[in-house]
Amino acid sequence: MSTNMDRRQLIKKSLLMAGGLSLVPGLVNQLGAKPINSCYRRPYVSDFSTILDGPKVLKARLFANENPFGPSPKAKQAIQDAMAQSYQYPFMFARDFMQTLASAEGLAPENLLISAGSSEILLAAAILFSQKTGSNVVSADPSYEDLPATMEEMKATWKKVPLTAAYKLDLDAMEKAIDGNTSLVYVCNPNNPTATVLEIEQLKSFVDRVSARVTVFIDEAYIDYLPDPKANTMIGAIKQGKNIIVARTFSKLHGFAGLRVGYAFGQPDMIKKLSSYTTGFAGISATSLHAAMASYTDTEFLKGALEKTLASKNYLYSVLKAEGYEYVPSSTNFVIFPLKMDSRQFVAEMEKRGVGVRFWQFNKKEWCRVSIGRMDEMEAFAAAFKEIS
Ligand code: PLP
Repeated sequence: MSTNMDRRQLIKKSLLMAGGLSLVPGLVNQLGAKPINSCYRRPYVSDFSTILDGPKVLKARLFANENPFGPSPKAKQAIQDAMAQSYQYPFMFARDFMQTLASAEGLAPENLLISAGSSEILLAAAILFSQKTGSNVVSADPSYEDLPATMEEMKATWKKVPLTAAYKLDLDAMEKAIDGNTSLVYVCNPNNPTATVLEIEQLKSFVDRVSARVTVFIDEAYIDYLPDPKANTMIGAIKQGKNIIVARTFSKLHGFAGLRVGYAFGQPDMIKKLSSYTTGFAGISATSLHAAMASYTDTEFLKGALEKTLASKNYLYSVLKAEGYEYVPSSTNFVIFPLKMDSRQFVAEMEKRGVGVRFWQFNKKEWCRVSIGRMDEMEAFAAAFKEIS
């Protein structure tokens, strides 16, 4: 935050929150939309049988694309160091953190929104882009459903565009699906659950054309797993003034899924609009903010986590190959592969053996998505898989 105005806005927002005012339900009421509660937001939560109903202790927790090698020792130390001061609202520290993130990308704090995980930003975008009656959102299918599913719940139409034969987003078909009522195009790159990544030049030219007509939301939750994230991020297009939002999270490679830190870059007016539907920095604990600052520059930890993830992933590939299974080559910390049995039954059988994974059904096939865990977890997966496959 560089100006007094920005600081005043930050303080005003956090005082609102400190006073116990819940912003989102009030705003939703103003919009005339259905009120939000945690069940309402996630109609697909029933798929998470492992998480909600499964055994509390698993040998391998491979269903949520977390990074079991994190958080970094420096992040843990930062949490301890920040504890004593954590009776304070982290106004100034949040400003410094935002300045650090923005400067690293050559942008200003006005281009940036931070929040308790990127889910809050997806929710804010869903609220913002559902406002106009009759609006629709275009996304790939399958892809990460949170944002478009929430928009659908808020009465927008969800236009689902099948993936290409290589399980990548079909950008040409997505562009064709856009019409005069499209308020948002959601692009998850790399894509969850298929772990595929787009050719960056193809994505850039898509953004050049499409963002002139409609806002493009690019979810880069898994970008840190690519060999060269800087060459693949679309943050550069924000510097060129494009009408896009780029969301990022510390939940994946940084190992912060439970600490909750996410952020998004966009044009200052868009960030302002999105901000009014989030709690912003006031939703993030001071300890998590300090941890994120420490993790952000801990290149040694990030490199180590990437190497261990790759070793576990290569081991998983070898297990699948040995059992006669194909898989979609992964650019992330999870792998999806087609099953030879009912996917729900497969997940239940794996769960009985202490291994949590997720099921999918698309392209008339049954699929399993396995997150990449520690080597002992991948070995537990392999042992259970060999019994079932
Ligand atoms: N975007 C994608 C593609 C995800 O897979 C996830 C979580 O798995 C999220 C966003 C939300 O992550 P968080 O709210 O933890 O930042």
